Amino acid sequence: MKNFAYLPAPYFSHFENITNSKKDTVKTQPNEKKNTLLSLFDEIRTKYKYYEDNFDKGKLHLINSTGYIDIKKLSLLDAYTGNGKELDKLKSSIKKLQHQDWQNTCPYCGILSLNSTDHYLPKEDYSEYAVLAINLVPCCLECNNKKGTYWKVNNARTIINFYLDDIPEQEFLTCDLKYEDAIPVARYNLSQAHGISAESFNLIECHYDRLDLLERYKDGSNDEITSTLDSILSFSKDDEPSKIKSDLITNYQKRVSRYGVNHWRCALLKALYNSNEFLDQASSALKVQLVNDMLKI
Ligand SMILES: [Zn+2]
Repeated sequence: MKNFAYLPAPYFSHFENITNSKKDTVKTQPNEKKNTLLSLFDEIRTKYKYYEDNFDKGKLHLINSTGYIDIKKLSLLDAYTGNGKELDKLKSSIKKLQHQDWQNTCPYCGILSLNSTDHYLPKEDYSEYAVLAINLVPCCLECNNKKGTYWKVNNARTIINFYLDDIPEQEFLTCDLKYEDAIPVARYNLSQAHGISAESFNLIECHYDRLDLLERYKDGSNDEITSTLDSILSFSKDDEPSKIKSDLITNYQKRVSRYGVNHWRCALLKALYNSNEFLDQASSALKVQLVNDMLKI
């Protein structure tokens, strides 16, 4: 898990551009939604500033909803769901800011591709921030659906904000690998490592729980274990378990520097290189392959 970069201010110009790009008329009648957005310019400028101030102070949980209803809410939501070119430009500039290792990976889960955009403060309750760049988080559709309008309970945030929250460098996600009927089964756990505050760990637990991450990592592990075995068979030339282990550790270190120590694939790789059963399984498969290769020569 790694932080995401956020678009720098100013933000209100995006709202202006999206509004101004809308048609003046709809079916020969004046575009009521556009006119409503134009009438809200001063209010929204002030609200953006209010969000930005709280964002800068790390106090997003203090932001109250304006509670827009009826045509104002509809018009503000339409600025987003209207899907115009200006909004596409905004979404794409947020994605382009990210490090290339994360340009197409959901920050919320680290599993799936970016094919959706989350409103950190949900647009259903905070329509005024429907197109505010720092409220938009590129993510996968599965995480977006699972998160829904959930982001705060009793004044404490419950979903990690990848723009703002410091992702602990201590290892809090671990993987336990056990062979059951000769098949490796990976299970994931969270633990409050030394140095992680109770508040920070509570946020992590709520985030993982809501997005069902530990189960989703378990589900994704079979394919990952198979591809790790395949890569050992493709690249290793020495069937000694200790040599296989040291190659896996080298890969683990590279992966940690790219994705962070708490990425699920890092936790799994660590469990694999610490499993004597896995190393023996890989060593036996490699031995067979090396003999077959020699026979071919
Ligand atoms: Zn996701």
